Amino acid sequence: MHHFEYRDDELFCEQVPLAKIAAEVGTPVYVYSHATLERHYKVFDNALGANKHIVCYSVKANSNLAVLRTLVAMGAGVDTVSRGEIFRALKVGADPKKIVFSGVGKREDEIVYGLEQGILAFNVESTSELHAIERVAARLGKRAPISLRVNPDVDAETHPYISTGLKKNKFGIGVAEARKTFIDASRMKHIEVVGIDCHIGSQLTKTSPFKDAIARLGELTRSLVKEGVTIRYVDIGGGLGIPYNQEDPPSPAEYGKAIEEAMAAFTGLDVTLICEPGRVIVGNAGVLMTRTLYLKQGEIKNFVIVDAAMNDLIRPAFYDSYHAIWPVKKQSGPQTYVADVVGPICETGDFLARDRALGQKPAEGDLLVLMSAGAYGFTMSSNYNTRQRAAEVMVKGSEYAVVRRREELEDMIKNESVPSFVG
Ligand SMILES: *Cc1c(COP(=O)(O)O)cnc(C)c1O
Repeated sequence: MHHFEYRDDELFCEQVPLAKIAAEVGTPVYVYSHATLERHYKVFDNALGANKHIVCYSVKANSNLAVLRTLVAMGAGVDTVSRGEIFRALKVGADPKKIVFSGVGKREDEIVYGLEQGILAFNVESTSELHAIERVAARLGKRAPISLRVNPDVDAETHPYISTGLKKNKFGIGVAEARKTFIDASRMKHIEVVGIDCHIGSQLTKTSPFKDAIARLGELTRSLVKEGVTIRYVDIGGGLGIPYNQEDPPSPAEYGKAIEEAMAAFTGLDVTLICEPGRVIVGNAGVLMTRTLYLKQGEIKNFVIVDAAMNDLIRPAFYDSYHAIWPVKKQSGPQTYVADVVGPICETGDFLARDRALGQKPAEGDLLVLMSAGAYGFTMSSNYNTRQRAAEVMVKGSEYAVVRRREELEDMIKNESVPSFVG
């Protein structure tokens, strides 16, 4: 469910016509719907209602301050993967006691920052990292709260690049080693074991991998309790998928029910559930609007050349992913025009859609919208080809605001310098 809808053949975000935003802000532009964000967060949070829980929104999916503020204002915690993401979350008033810090390669300065800010937990992904955290905590005279990220070896059955819970992946610590590491950690003076964690992948379209993962965490936790290790938080990561095209992922309610059942593995233990949803909260709350520059008829294909490119939205190039394409103004009458929708970048991978049956043949200047671009859209964008990164806009009801202005040319070179030795 989202709030991008046609009214008399014209596409609106909530009460605002997208064409108005294009005219006033320009293209390419990301547009986020505040009502959709709120709705998704509420639905997800309610679905977990039966368990004591904290929803830690995964910042990397969309880290715009206005998006973060919207979620934090509703009580969300955050899942972060860098010092920069913690910084962003704190900027919008996130409660440090609801911040978890994930990632396989935390640098020392990042560990220091997390400790100084008093975050809820470091999700530790290797024994080397555990020792590094202990060293830093000892130096600062602190005790670092940690969860160990366990690699439960379950197949998330998703794209290999976003499948993270298999033995062959770089993430987490295998179950057998995790048991030993937990026991070691519980004896470290500057470490406080607070939880157990996993994240098995992204864009999951079934509940069974989540259940299997939780079952493994439950078994491991029970064996740890016997060793005197206390687990207070069970962090099951993110990963719930969204419908981009034909997928039929479980609804948050179905997901919540599956999680609740699986959490029976922890019956009798006083634990708080942590979830780290990203995509399911923001994915369908945002679109990327672009303008058609040219139409080109190749020998075997049609091309629609638009002003957004892989630097703005890399998902099609990176994961071969599908984003529905809607015209901002619908034309009447049945038409089907099949084309590749491509950007201006000199890379064959620079496409937004391939062999796509568009409802109608766009004309030069027509606005198109790439749907479901709220997650891993802007956050994965770059300045490749020295293209300015897109503007971001948030709509709330009949109002909208630019929440990140389009980059200027000077923004792109401001950190560079030419030393005198180059002449
Ligand atoms: C990316 C990530 C998430 C969020 O994944 P979604 O599929 O967007 O829900 C959660 N936790 C960790 C550790 C991640 O790396």
